[in-house]
Amino acid sequence: MNLHEYQGKEILNSFGVRIQRGIVAQNAHEAVAAAKQLTAETGTGWHVIKAQVHAGGRGKGGGVKLAKNLKEVEEIAGQIIGMNLITPQTSAEGKKVHQVLVAEDVYYPGDSEPDEFYVSVLLNRTSGRNMIMYSTEGGMDIETVAEETPHLIFTEEVDPSVGLLPFQARRVAFNLGLSGGAFKEMTKFVMALYTAYDKSDASLFEINPVLKTSDDKIMAVDAKVTIDDNALYRHKNYVDMRDIREENPIEVEANEVGLNYVDLDGNVGCMVNGAGLAMATMDLIKQAGGEPANFLDVGGTADAKRVEEAFRIILKDDNVKAILINIFGGIVRCDRVAQGVVDAYKNMGDAIKVPIIVRLQGTNADIAKELIDSSGLDVQSAVQFQEAADKVQAVLA
Ligand code: GDP
Ligand code: MN
Repeated sequence: MNLHEYQGKEILNSFGVRIQRGIVAQNAHEAVAAAKQLTAETGTGWHVIKAQVHAGGRGKGGGVKLAKNLKEVEEIAGQIIGMNLITPQTSAEGKKVHQVLVAEDVYYPGDSEPDEFYVSVLLNRTSGRNMIMYSTEGGMDIETVAEETPHLIFTEEVDPSVGLLPFQARRVAFNLGLSGGAFKEMTKFVMALYTAYDKSDASLFEINPVLKTSDDKIMAVDAKVTIDDNALYRHKNYVDMRDIREENPIEVEANEVGLNYVDLDGNVGCMVNGAGLAMATMDLIKQAGGEPANFLDVGGTADAKRVEEAFRIILKDDNVKAILINIFGGIVRCDRVAQGVVDAYKNMGDAIKVPIIVRLQGTNADIAKELIDSSGLDVQSAVQFQEAADKVQAVLA
């Protein structure tokens, strides 16, 4: 689950990580009230208005702007809320902005080269360990830094049996070129950031930029946070942070009926049991010259009800021009799945307007093929994997 910047900062704050303070607002009126409250708390009359969408690069797209008085707060908030924000990380259509974070301005006026760093905590899947990734090149996107100046990116791996050790946090501060009060602040910042990542069961905490203020404070100005969905049951207070407006609507619906579905760009819908077979099926479709429209694992119980739900989800994607059903009958018998396909097809009336290729392999595969072939429906059966992919290509041609 991805979070908004303001939500990520709330979590950081709860673990004692210093953040640029802010208040979220749904409209220009609320933004002005938020700015007033922040001025009362912090003393600063300048604010940054930041679009809250699940995409980075907002600054470049015009989604982060400085307001020097309340009139500007109102104007800028009014302009950003409701806009379609296009950034290097959104699609070409951009993302609709529903809310802004009104934050205290923490930059020194006229400072053309503020001290901005990049610090993230993430799982290194190769080593199976959490690591701190950090760089002196804050404020720009890390992919560019990795490409152009890879020697300016450092990492610190964490041994899971002891956790992040203080000397490691000091090494981060040292490599970032800090000294004195800022060095101590950075050490504390990194330790608290790691605790936040660990205790919230996150898979990513990316803080870009981390700012050294003119009085040597270290604070998070931005926060990109991903919480591991499988750990959400341990964090009931985070569950409400999900903003489904930011998610793919078909994926949200699939999730509600318990289907493991990921929307993709191609035109061949896939219905498969098991994540491994689903991946292999997508590979085969590609090899045969097609493009998968989705990843879909229907799980172990591919009965008529489930197959019907899967059909409905797949067909919500207008790009789908054919559907490949690839089921391995191990525990679930192929003939039951085949019956499920036939029943679901009939149940759906004429909702299915694209050709369907079914490959059932495993227990009772022969009975299953017989069932499909004699059903009189626009469903073709295949025995071999390759044969199935070729049939898909044939119907698309
Ligand atoms: P992103 O573009 O989506 O990564 O959004 P960020 O939260 O990182 O903000 C983009 C940029 O806005 C930062 O790199 C800063 O340079 C700038 N920015 C953020 N907060 C402030 C602030 O308080 N004052 C000023 N002047 N600039 C800020
Ligand atoms: Mn950023």
